[in-house]
Amino acid sequence: MIPSVLPTYSRAPLSFVKGEGSWLIEADGRRFLDLGAGIAVNALGHANPALVKALSDQAQNLWHTSNLYQIPNQQALADKLVEHTFADTVFFTNSGTESCELAVKMARKYWYEKGAPDKTDIITFEGSFHGRSSAGIAAAGSEKMTKGFGPLLPGFIHLPWGDLDALKAAITDTVGAILVEPVQGEGGIRPMDDSDLKALRALCDDHDLLLILDEVQCGMGRTGRLFAHEWAGITPDIMMVAKGIGGGFPLGAVLATEKAASGMSAGSHGSTYGGNPLGCAVGSAVMDEMTAEGFLDEVNRKAGLMRQKLEGLVDAHPEVFEEVRGAGLMLGLKCKAVNADVVKAGYDNMLLTVPAADNVIRLLPPLTISDEEIGEATTRLDAAAKAVENT
Ligand SMILES: *Cc1c(COP(=O)(O)O)cnc(C)c1O
Repeated sequence: MIPSVLPTYSRAPLSFVKGEGSWLIEADGRRFLDLGAGIAVNALGHANPALVKALSDQAQNLWHTSNLYQIPNQQALADKLVEHTFADTVFFTNSGTESCELAVKMARKYWYEKGAPDKTDIITFEGSFHGRSSAGIAAAGSEKMTKGFGPLLPGFIHLPWGDLDALKAAITDTVGAILVEPVQGEGGIRPMDDSDLKALRALCDDHDLLLILDEVQCGMGRTGRLFAHEWAGITPDIMMVAKGIGGGFPLGAVLATEKAASGMSAGSHGSTYGGNPLGCAVGSAVMDEMTAEGFLDEVNRKAGLMRQKLEGLVDAHPEVFEEVRGAGLMLGLKCKAVNADVVKAGYDNMLLTVPAADNVIRLLPPLTISDEEIGEATTRLDAAAKAVENT
């Protein structure tokens, strides 16, 4: 008999009932150190007091009105995002994949309105992940996600990760945009080199293409800048955001320049929940925390500490780990052992990590993790590695 919850996930036998900062408490009382943060969502930790206050204050007043009316909280959050990024304008969604839908629609509409309706193709890269909607799976193109769901949304060209020669060769008159994650998340914590990102931007400028960045996982402070592309000194035309922006409240956004957004007008896109008062109250609180003086400096300092500890673990357990990769607190341990076994051994040591493709385990702690907790995480990872060695 089919379970009452549609069985699309293979879940670990853990049920968490409470969260506190970097910790999750299991129904049986055990305390797990959370290096997954709900897959880079709980960027400010669990039950962060500032977010709890923003949510509960707003919940006393007004949850939802719809986009039929002005929403002051939405305006306030959009203003903050515009102030702190390349963007001139923002549309709010509820998830990453919805941000992908709009990014694709916006790019196509841009070219349509410019009188180039054939420029519908979007170049994407192997190993990427853009969500589970029809546009998202067609964009990423991996058979694992698309098999059985055809016919797929047409108009995506899939190229090997970071292959700039293939990219140059693929740019034809029907290509309108390039879509890329500056740091691949699901694909195994694979950062694109700054020089490659610069080259991508230059190619887009030369060929008059829109650069769409998917910063759903690598954005919102995760790499030590508010958005990962800032490290390369480039800006996109359109950017997908979700995960960390709500700190656990379902919220996403598409950020764009005035030019890239110029095709969108009243009635061209919409969302019932997108940008509702409750979500935007929390999103604003997240932005306030992340843009506060010194917040990102601390993320970078702790990222250095964590990376150093992980390098030590790789040296100590060459049979289990191969290398450390990533940027900021978006870190991956490429495994020699089977990554799922390492994740499982982590559970046994009350430590949560997240598997990714390419036999990697992801370490995406709350950005608020303390030095002491980083030390504790190292101790538990060390114990997990020893357990894997002994099996
Ligand atoms: C998680 C993720 C998505 C999809 O986000 P959902 O909120 O699950 O729809 C898209 N792109 C990237 C890079 C992601 O990590």
